[in-house]
Amino acid sequence: MKKLGFGLMRLPLTDPNDEAKIDIEQAKKMVDLFMGKGFTYFDTAWMYHEYKSEDAVKTLISSRYPRESFCLATKMHVDFADSPEDLDRIFKRQLEKCGVEYFDYYLLHDQNTRIFKKCRELGAFEWLKEKKALGLVRKIGFSFHDGADVLEEVLAAFPEADFVQLQINYIDWDSEAIQSRLNYETARRHSKEIIVMEPVKGGTLASVPDEAEHLMRSVQPGWSIPSWAIRFAAGLPGVIMVLSGMSSLAQMEDNLSYMEHFHPLGQTERDVLRRVVRIISGRTVIPCTSCAYCTTMCPVHIPIFKYFSLYNQDSRELEGKGDTSAKENYGELTQVFAGAGECIRCGACERICPQLLPIRSLLADVADYFEKS
Ligand code: SF4
Ligand code: SF4
Repeated sequence: MKKLGFGLMRLPLTDPNDEAKIDIEQAKKMVDLFMGKGFTYFDTAWMYHEYKSEDAVKTLISSRYPRESFCLATKMHVDFADSPEDLDRIFKRQLEKCGVEYFDYYLLHDQNTRIFKKCRELGAFEWLKEKKALGLVRKIGFSFHDGADVLEEVLAAFPEADFVQLQINYIDWDSEAIQSRLNYETARRHSKEIIVMEPVKGGTLASVPDEAEHLMRSVQPGWSIPSWAIRFAAGLPGVIMVLSGMSSLAQMEDNLSYMEHFHPLGQTERDVLRRVVRIISGRTVIPCTSCAYCTTMCPVHIPIFKYFSLYNQDSRELEGKGDTSAKENYGELTQVFAGAGECIRCGACERICPQLLPIRSLLADVADYFEKS
């Protein structure tokens, strides 16, 4: 398999304010281009795009291509299940929604200390092994968002996992909170295949500070900025797939241009990235990856990641320019959605945030920043 996977969580939309409104015609063109270039791996999940991503798999892929010509991964988030019967019910529905009779890769979603505990209580690991034995899943594994000590525990409880999906990117590589490198090394010690998620950190590494961009362009003028991040992840030994949540044909064309015949970064480029990390570090105020898990859970429909993105944008741009369009954009969004200050502090978003962000207090900062000045 070619090493670039199409993440179906940031598909193009017909309405930018409604994640459920996938632009099917545009997405079809993207799928056709992707498949036409020999790429085959698609990654979805139960709650992506307000529960519409798996339906899109059927419309875009399984109804248009032979089953053996593509590889499909989806996930079970146990926060949606209270019993083994719920696991079965959701799994059956996922097969129907995706229009397939089996999944190539199936993940227990978003493992961390809390989710791991719940998986054990529900018997989710045994449940998934049974699905594999029945031929309903070909490879089993989990996505992971916690420290390396917790990863050791999960792998000890679930040694049958064929693969592990990790958040790996050059900015989180030595991060104490995300522990990209330590988690990668742990998975390698256990001889697991590694799938990389968030190589561009939700788009954060697609738009780096000017100083970093100049440095990168001075060494590789023809490379796009996000390509550095994907090349970094794809070049790591043991990595079998790097997922990219592509939102446009242009993004896809750029990714395919260097992933079609992939060459890992050389020493010069790796040295540049070390300098880029030093430039970027400390400038991204809120390390949100725009995965949108939180907005799916929010009872008052606060577009949390959009507000965090505007807040970050303002922080970064203000360094050089003194004014940005973020406040105006924030005002426009609050015409459609609840504002950051309308958070009722229920905590549902924090329970599901894979980056373990203190969303309630961050939203209070955002509200102070955008609503009071
Ligand atoms: S704590 Fe606030 S932002 Fe989070 S889910 Fe509840 S209302 Fe929404
Ligand atoms: S706040 Fe957390 S859950 Fe919400 S989009 Fe950002 S990283 Fe994802």
